[in-house]
Amino acid sequence: MKKWILYPQEVIKKRVFEVSKKIEAAHKNQQNNLVMICVLYGAVFFFTDLVRNINIPMTLDFIRASSYGPRLNSSGTVEITKNIETDIQGKSIILVEDIVDSGLTITHLIGELEKENPESIQVCALINKTERREIPIQIDYSGFKLTEGFVIGYGLDYDQQCRNYPDIYVLKDEENE
Ligand code: IMP
Repeated sequence: MKKWILYPQEVIKKRVFEVSKKIEAAHKNQQNNLVMICVLYGAVFFFTDLVRNINIPMTLDFIRASSYGPRLNSSGTVEITKNIETDIQGKSIILVEDIVDSGLTITHLIGELEKENPESIQVCALINKTERREIPIQIDYSGFKLTEGFVIGYGLDYDQQCRNYPDIYVLKDEENE
């Protein structure tokens, strides 16, 4: 597989800061009511960069979902393998995801969290990847919009590798060039 830089780290930093400020402006009157939930592992760097620039009180928590299926896709089966530990009843939730692709993972997570009766659930995605969307989903805050391609780095993996790259790369299968 070949790879080349799609979003250099300076571009990511600037865009993440902008998204942080949008969230800050939208939630500045919700004192002590905001819970930001990181979807592990892919969103981990995005999440830590994002929340450090939002200057309002909040609680942080983490959730992990696994999906089973072909290598470069997710499948229809989503399972929560690590749940949140915060009582989110009556709270404003922002679910922070790395990529929304088909929409299956985030839809499943929203469905599970809704059972805990939060006041609201918003979605913040680093990358909104639209071409394979199966379930229409409202993405309230998004870093980058991409129609297609498989991306790695800044938390995003290929077979659990490459998450540590500071830039985001797009992978290209050489056979399909
Ligand atoms: P969805 O359930 O199809 O929306 O898939 C969401 C999950 O698939 C993301 O949280 C990622 O873990 C994974 N995923 C989808 N596209 C990519 C990609 O381009 N690079 C890395 N992971 C991806």
